[in-house]
Amino acid sequence: MIKKKQIIELEITGMTHEGLGVGRYEGFAIFVQGAIDGEVVRAEIIKVLKSYAVARIAEFIKTSPHRIQPFCPVYKRCGGCSLQHMSYEKTLEFKRQVVKDNLERIGGLTDISVNNAIGMETPRNYRNKAQYPVGEGKTGIIAGFYARRSHEIIDAPVCDIQHPLSDKAKDIVLGYIKAFNIPVYDEMTGEGLIRHIVTKTGFNTGEVMVIIVATKPELPKKNKLLYRLERDIPGLKSVILNINDKPGNVILGNHNITLFGKDTIEDKLGGLTFEISPLSFYQVNPVQTEVLYNKAIEFAGIDKTHTVYDLYCGIGTITLFAAGKARRVIGVEEVPEAVEAARKNAMKNNITNVDFYCGKAETVVPELYEKGEKADVVFVDPPRKGCDEILLKTLVDMAPSRIVYVSCNPSTLARDLKYLCSKGFKVHEVQPVDMFPWTEHVECVTLMSKP
Ligand code: SAH
Repeated sequence: MIKKKQIIELEITGMTHEGLGVGRYEGFAIFVQGAIDGEVVRAEIIKVLKSYAVARIAEFIKTSPHRIQPFCPVYKRCGGCSLQHMSYEKTLEFKRQVVKDNLERIGGLTDISVNNAIGMETPRNYRNKAQYPVGEGKTGIIAGFYARRSHEIIDAPVCDIQHPLSDKAKDIVLGYIKAFNIPVYDEMTGEGLIRHIVTKTGFNTGEVMVIIVATKPELPKKNKLLYRLERDIPGLKSVILNINDKPGNVILGNHNITLFGKDTIEDKLGGLTFEISPLSFYQVNPVQTEVLYNKAIEFAGIDKTHTVYDLYCGIGTITLFAAGKARRVIGVEEVPEAVEAARKNAMKNNITNVDFYCGKAETVVPELYEKGEKADVVFVDPPRKGCDEILLKTLVDMAPSRIVYVSCNPSTLARDLKYLCSKGFKVHEVQPVDMFPWTEHVECVTLMSKP
């Protein structure tokens, strides 16, 4: 029986979906942090569980040609990226394989080829939104990122996947906190004022929003902070004080006070303008979002006779991308603020052939179908838990000619495709798009139709 601290020689023959290397020792699965398939390592066991053990690399015996030096100095500890020890090409192949494995194992879909993942030309500085927890570290007040599976804050002076202005804004707020002894939040006691620094940047407009998340609606010496931000952040259009006095993991509270400039900023995607507010969901990688949406639109094959549904529409991005090609588009979204933003975005772009419904897709779509409404083409872009079976059943009855499924979770995608295939739909193409380079997250768009 294998024991903690034991050192074993191991050949890595596969990868988990989180990016850990997998080897077998006397038939027992060992997950090795930071190992790549094809490598041979001496691994030290750090945890033994019932059906597997976790190990770390003690020494390399054979390294993978895909191994590279991580570009981030805090890569090993930070919970953000998990694939920086692999070449970018290898991470793309890994993501394609994750989709393929899920479709085969969970979906039972063995005869589907999955396209190569579309990666970024320059997979750096791609995020338009950064969220830095603030707290007391060993070296004083720090703002950085949480360590892997923990709430310990890691001091990360620079994060190369963020927009450079995000780090700059974070440094300015941190400088202000230190200069004026502004109390920072302590998760254990619930005391203190500043919890998070959040930044949002419109990549195509240059507009920047800085959100200070605090436990109370007060910010001592706030003009000192505003002066510094305005002076040093080009494109600063909005500074918001967001109040969150509740313990727990949710970063933003519901109450916003605009300290400077506008309540919202704007960004452009595919020639359309979108309004971004502190609380609204907006895809974090604008370059790849355009790639993803264009692929989804291409798959949809929409023409001017089509009625299109965009389910889980958020602030109406896919809806408005599709509107120019369709007769009519109906967006469905459960968060009222997002629906309001979607309606505003339609008006802002002079788009009039769209309607938005606020509610759960699994409630709204059956109601529409009862009334005799039908879609020719349906987009679904659900959260990680995938689609409700009631919705899928209604789509089967409605029988649109195409379903385009945008998914951020290959396992629920596989489950839902399995259901739709069992009811006569056929999968034509599966296209992963790398929305989150260097992390294990996999996004893909799938085209289905009824033969
Ligand atoms: N298509 C949008 C948003 C995708 S995120 C975009 O690309 O930006 C998924 C969205 O689904 C979120 O806005 C979330 O609020 C919404 N949502 C979650 N569960 C839902 C449900 N059951 N019915 C309708 N919308 C839901």
